[in-house]
This record gives sequence, C-alpha cells and structure tokens, in this order.
Amino acid sequence: MFKYNTLIKFLFAIFSISFIACSNDDNDEKHDHADAEGLVLKIEEQTIVTYKEGVVTGSLTISDTAETEVELAFLDDDGDEFVPHEDDGFTPEYVVSDTNIFVVEAEDGEHNHSSEETHLAFHIEGKQVGTATLTIKLLHNGHSDFTSKEIPVIVQN
Ligand SMILES: [Zn+2]
Repeated sequence: MFKYNTLIKFLFAIFSISFIACSNDDNDEKHDHADAEGLVLKIEEQTIVTYKEGVVTGSLTISDTAETEVELAFLDDDGDEFVPHEDDGFTPEYVVSDTNIFVVEAEDGEHNHSSEETHLAFHIEGKQVGTATLTIKLLHNGHSDFTSKEIPVIVQN
C-alpha cells in the first residue's frame, strides 16, 4: 500500500505543478502569441496613423524624393502600446499595394538604436506621386498573429 500511496502523491504533485504552471501562464502578460489588436505609426514621435478596433485613422504623406523613417508600435486590447521582440520570433511584414508609388524597407536588428530595445521602425521611400496602401502584418514563427487594414500612403512632390 505504501508504494501505491507514494505513486498517488507523486502523480498529484505532477498534476499540481502543471496546474500551477498553466494558471501562471494565463495570468502572464507575455502570451506566446502576440496580443495585437491595433497599431500606431509615428513620425518624429508624433502619432500619424492609428489602427484600432478595425478602423484606420490618418494616413501617411511622404515626399517622392526623400526617405521617411516611421516608427511602429502595436496596441494590445487595453489600447496600450507594445513592441513584440524579434527574439520571441516576431517580425513585422509590410505589404505595399503598388511598389511603383512607394517602397518600404524594414529596419533590421543591426540598425543602431541600441539603447532602446523596444523600438520597431521602417523606412518608407516615395517613388512617384500618387496614392497606394500599406498593410502591416505581425508574423510569429511563420504564421501571422495580426494583419492591419490598408493604411493610405500619399506620395507628394
Ligand atoms: Zn503566434
């Protein structure tokens, strides 16, 4: 009987441990998947575009001669900004409707904003006067955790 009781206790201990691990997981703010509900785009620290609750507010207006650096942050379901980290398998993807109008170049991890780990940015370059759209996805180890609606980009002379 002793062995049997020990086995039960052992199983119970394993069960408790996994149960605790799971409930901790639920309360943890760092889910495995990104909890992105929206995003913001900023130029020189000014919010230019917000995508929230399925609605895009604002548009990017850029020059056809210069490159513009745009900072990207995602919004969680409380509307708080967060930046998913590359080390956790997150990569933003930029889908341009017409690359004759503008192109996007993601800032790679090597780019030197070293002091600020929580920084995501891309460069947007106007090619020709016109309007096209940018859709931003958040890829997570090969699948997509988030896709924005189309964000208007206006390229001016
Ligand atoms: Zn995911």
